[in-house]
Amino acid sequence: MKLLQPNEMVDSIYDINLSHLKLMGIKGIITDLDNTLLAWHSSEITPTVEQWISDVRNEGLKIAIVSNNSTARVEELSAQLGGVICIAKAIKPRRGAFRSIAGQFNLAPHEIAVVGDQLFTDVLGGNRSGMYTILVNPISKQEFIGTKIMRLAEKIFLRRS
Ligand SMILES: [Mg+2]
Repeated sequence: MKLLQPNEMVDSIYDINLSHLKLMGIKGIITDLDNTLLAWHSSEITPTVEQWISDVRNEGLKIAIVSNNSTARVEELSAQLGGVICIAKAIKPRRGAFRSIAGQFNLAPHEIAVVGDQLFTDVLGGNRSGMYTILVNPISKQEFIGTKIMRLAEKIFLRRS
């Protein structure tokens, strides 16, 4: 069950202490897209998200988006965010996409933080990959029914841990 435990829980990406991550030896961030950077199924990149991406880059941290969503949408949004490296249809919690980004970053897993709003995809995938995991609260409540069921399971899990 330890694999479902995030290293950190924050309200949103804006509450992540980037300079503290750097002090911990983190050199790159892999972030989820839906409900982490943007509201679910929203294609609207807010100025605050753009600012966060540039804050991450200004700290000297590498940034990539790993999403289980469709290729077209993820690539379009990554391009809009200034060519952020991205992997769509990532099949998180499988490790392939996380490993691929670690290779592209040329970083060891322990030098990478994974940020996302779901325990069973983002946190589980990041933990399985040996990365530092940060759980955020989902931006939007608009979700697939499957996600809603997962969310309930997450609630029960978090209450018990
Ligand atoms: Mg998400």
